[in-house]
Amino acid sequence: SATDRNEASAAMEQTFIMIKPDGVQRGLVCSPFPSPLISSSFASFIHSSALHCVKILPTTILFLFSPSTLEKKGEIFLVIFVRRSGLKLVGVERSFAEKHYADLSAKPFFGSLVEYIISGPVVAMVWTGKNVVVTGRKIIGATNPAESAPGTIRGDYAIEIGRNVIHGSDSVESARKEIALWFPEGISEWQSNLHPWIYELA
Ligand code: UDP
Ligand code: MG
Repeated sequence: SATDRNEASAAMEQTFIMIKPDGVQRGLVCSPFPSPLISSSFASFIHSSALHCVKILPTTILFLFSPSTLEKKGEIFLVIFVRRSGLKLVGVERSFAEKHYADLSAKPFFGSLVEYIISGPVVAMVWTGKNVVVTGRKIIGATNPAESAPGTIRGDYAIEIGRNVIHGSDSVESARKEIALWFPEGISEWQSNLHPWIYELA
C-alpha cells in the first residue's frame, strides 16, 4: 500500500561509521588477502559490486565481518555495502576529536578517549540504508567489548572498552551531526544497479 511505501522510504537513513586507530593499525581495514573464512560466492559478489569503490572498501568489510555475521545479517550487510556513500582515511586533530566526542567531555575517560582517537589515522565512512543507524550499532556490538556478542565487530575483534576498534552513530540526529563534521565537503550519492534486488522500492 501507499502507507507501507512511505514507511519504507522514510526508514532510509545514513550513519557515520569510523574504524578507530587500533582497527587501522591492526590491519582490520585492509587485509592483503581475502579472508579464507568468507564463502567464495559472497567474496565474488563483493568483488564484482566493488567496482565503483576504491580498493580498501571490499576488504574493510570482508575482514570485519565474520561468516556467522554474514549469515545472520547478510541481507542487511548487502544493503549497507552497496549503498555506502563516503569513505576516507584521515588523521584526526585533538580539537576535532574533542568536537566529535563533545557530548562526553565531562566523562572521566574523555582525556584518554581523545588520546586514543588521535593516536593514528582512522577510516571515516558514511553508510546508507534502511534503519542503518540501529543496524550499524547492532553489527558493531556493545560499547564494552566484554559485553558484545560474538558475531559483532567488537565482540569478535576487541577486548578493552578503550580499544574497541569501531565507532557508529547512536541516533539519526547524532549521525546527521557527525556526517556534517566529518564530511563537510559532502558525500557522493549513487545507487547501485542491485538496489531493486535488495529493496522492494525503487
Ligand atoms: N569509552 C571508554 N570508557 C568508557 C566508556 C567509553 O574508553 O567507560 C570510550 C569507548 O571507546 C567508546 C567511546 O568512549 O566507544 C565513546 O563512548 P560511547 O558511550 O559513546 O560508546 P559508543 O557509542 O562508542 O558505543
Ligand atoms: Mg557513542
